[in-house]
Amino acid sequence: MNLSENAADREFRAQVRQFLAQHLPDDLRQKVINFVWLNKADYECWHNLLADYGWQGPAWSREYGGQGWSALQRKIFDEECQLACAPRTVPHLNMICPVLNAFGTPAQKQRFLPDMFRLKTWWCQGYSEPGAGSDLAALQTSAVREGDHYVINGHKIWTTWAHWSDWMFALVRTNREVKAQEGISFVLIDMKSPGITVRPIISADGCHDLNEVFLDNVKVPLDNLVGEENKGWTIAKFLLGFERAEMAAVGLCKRLLQFCRKATQSHYLEGRPLWDDALIRHRLAELEMRVKVHEWTTLRVLASEEAGTTASAAPSMLKLASSELQQDLTRLLRDCTGPRGTQYLRALRQGEAVELEDLRAFDNALVANYIDWRKVTVYGGTTEVQKTITAKTFA
Ligand SMILES: Cc1cc2nc3c(=O)[nH]c(=O)nc-3n(C[C@H](O)[C@H](O)[C@H](O)COP(=O)(O)OP(=O)(O)OC[C@H]3O[C@@H](n4cnc5c(N)ncnc54)[C@H](O)[C@@H]3O)c2cc1C
Repeated sequence: MNLSENAADREFRAQVRQFLAQHLPDDLRQKVINFVWLNKADYECWHNLLADYGWQGPAWSREYGGQGWSALQRKIFDEECQLACAPRTVPHLNMICPVLNAFGTPAQKQRFLPDMFRLKTWWCQGYSEPGAGSDLAALQTSAVREGDHYVINGHKIWTTWAHWSDWMFALVRTNREVKAQEGISFVLIDMKSPGITVRPIISADGCHDLNEVFLDNVKVPLDNLVGEENKGWTIAKFLLGFERAEMAAVGLCKRLLQFCRKATQSHYLEGRPLWDDALIRHRLAELEMRVKVHEWTTLRVLASEEAGTTASAAPSMLKLASSELQQDLTRLLRDCTGPRGTQYLRALRQGEAVELEDLRAFDNALVANYIDWRKVTVYGGTTEVQKTITAKTFA
């Protein structure tokens, strides 16, 4: 198994770097560096820059207007973007696009895919419910056929960016008489439909990304069913594989490691940089090794994907390793801030001008990172769930 980049890969990496150096606007980059919340316009700006350059749909096949990049090229692209502090590409597109490619009708593909490139339409993921998270098959939101449409009633929760979204891809129950997994369907819901209420959930750091979505007699045309009725569980699992594989985030781990190096040099304890402290250096060295190991594991998974021999638990293993690593990196960052880390200014994170010395502003970003990153071992399937999937695969 050859895990090193060949000449074409290195050339591609250089091209991505050049694109970022020339086209990533500095204000957007500064926002990412300082961990300021990005708004809808920021993401739209980023996607349009990519589309203008001809790099629309970085993760998509050529057949549907994407780049047709190999898994390794996608990894290189993501890594360079993350290291350059570019915004992430909106993850929902990399979930719904493969689903429509694989299961959608020609009419659905034609209707929905072209508008995604420039974020003309925003999507949210309506999977979780108050009683159905890890045990997703327990979902209760019901869809009942009436003539040429379904009538949908239920309650979705933790729906990221529902307040920005035009459409939701959702799992609904279409049959209660069969085994839970066999009575689920995958539907596309217009968020402007009468009967939809979106209520914000504010996160621990004060951010508004998450929402509850209430569906009260919402009419959805039968044309918006993806795949066959009651076969939505197969689509749900297909999509979760993409969601978890994306979470390997090698570039992000490398960026957090760079921040760790910077923080251990810029922060002092009793007149000496933290870098001088043997315990801190030990933690840093351990994290560096884990980032390296995570990168090699990701490359091995990508290589086995190309060879068609990937273990089914691979996305879960990558998600697990990456999320725990990200949390440990952000823990070291927070520890570097010392007593200053006990204060957190939400206004700075919102991008408001606050008079502060540079180091204090940097500390605020590190604390914000720490608080925000607690979520990564929950979304996309919790740590315990990933461990169970992995254990079952190799049992
Ligand atoms: C930031 C964020 C964004 C999200 N965005 C979305 C979104 O856009 N759309 C969407 O549909 N959902 C979204 N989610 C929801 C996410 O998918 C769920 O939070 C996740 O699946 C866990 O479900 P739960 O919160 O109901 O926790 P639960 O499933 O109730 O789990 C609670 C605890 O019990 C443990 N546990 C549960 N079952 C088992 C088991 N069998 N064995 C061992 N331990 C177990 C879990 O590991 C966890 O520690 C988001 C979540 C977060 C945090």
